[in-house]
Amino acid sequence: MAALACCQAQEAVTPKSESVAFDDFFVDKALRLELYQCGDAREMTTTLQTLAEEPCWPENPNSLIMPFPYGKYSVKAWDAASNRLVYAKGLDSLFAEYATTKPALSGTKRVIQTTARIPMPKAAVKLTIERRNGDNSLTTIMTEHLDPSDIRIRRESPTKGDKPFEVQNKGDAHHCLDIVFLSEGYSATQEDKFKADVQKMSDYLLSVAPYKGLSDRISVRGVFRASEESGTDLPHKGVFRNTALNSSFNTLDIDRYLLLDDNHRMHQMAAAVPFDTIVVLVNSTTYGGGAICLDYCVTTTDHPSSPMVFVHELGHCLAYLADEYVGNVSYNDIYPEGVEPVEPNITRQLEPDKIKWKSFLSKDVTLPTKSSRETRAERTVGAFEGGGYLSKGMYRPQAGCWMGSANPKEGFCVVCDDAIQRMIDFYTSKPELPK
Ligand SMILES: [Zn+2]
Repeated sequence: MAALACCQAQEAVTPKSESVAFDDFFVDKALRLELYQCGDAREMTTTLQTLAEEPCWPENPNSLIMPFPYGKYSVKAWDAASNRLVYAKGLDSLFAEYATTKPALSGTKRVIQTTARIPMPKAAVKLTIERRNGDNSLTTIMTEHLDPSDIRIRRESPTKGDKPFEVQNKGDAHHCLDIVFLSEGYSATQEDKFKADVQKMSDYLLSVAPYKGLSDRISVRGVFRASEESGTDLPHKGVFRNTALNSSFNTLDIDRYLLLDDNHRMHQMAAAVPFDTIVVLVNSTTYGGGAICLDYCVTTTDHPSSPMVFVHELGHCLAYLADEYVGNVSYNDIYPEGVEPVEPNITRQLEPDKIKWKSFLSKDVTLPTKSSRETRAERTVGAFEGGGYLSKGMYRPQAGCWMGSANPKEGFCVVCDDAIQRMIDFYTSKPELPK
């Protein structure tokens, strides 16, 4: 999702896997799948390139089946012996966004890296990748039979020269939200600057709701890798820099949209520490950032709005929040007409009983709700028209929210706040003790 100008049946979803016991099916390591997606708007293939082992499974062993309907794709693992679903999680990729752009619609094919990760299975599994269709149903687009003894699984040591460090460690990675910051566009002499930038971003994140109240469950780490040159590519200004992860502005031809080509290399670098979500810090003063939901987000570090951009982009990446602003993107029909988006903070519904954030609606609120000085001041929760890049027919919960504006005073709306908390519960919850 581009930087500032991402459930149905959302209510009371308890993040709990369907009683899949981790130890029955998995060991405490991860299996990374490095994939390529190639195609245009009409057709696409997803192909496995590399399998690699990661040293631990940092995600929650009690949350093996994601309870949220998030992701343009879904990764599923089925125990081969019993054909039982033992792992499921949403996945997004830049390709899903590319497929909605004009070049893709006119048949220009592109190849884009993406990465999936599952816990390391104890025995053979069938792995599937499913694509979400226009009506939100899922279709299987790739099937692989994986065996943990497969000699193709790379079991390599981390890249020498990468320097992992801790900012705060709140304990067992299985039950913490583990955020890793990766350096991009920092030269060998700028390691201290990177560490200071990580501290600045981390301090800001942990000072705002809902992260502030949950900071005892959030671990923060960094990995420093020196780039040949400082900065990043600004193609619209003719600026190109040789950097560790090949980040660049002008993603999908949007000047402020900053992502990177080397998704596989980014995951290889991140695997030096336990991580649930990746933040790439780009050493630049230019305004911008970007996010691929459920995978990673990017922000520059030295624009006055950089901490705000970071918190906004992490909202996409971590909690599958939609942009609540209107227009200003290259996407076409990213939210097909007549289909309720799966993101928690936008809706096409106006019936109070069906609206996904009905438990938060202000008493006797009129739907749709008019944005006014009063509704802003009272933080009215209703259905305000405009969101998901669309000015008509799409509604957001409150007049103001960080998913729609860069005003530091705004904060997240109650629905985004709740969605972030539920995702942090998904990554951190512990099994209930027997009574
Ligand atoms: Zn919001």
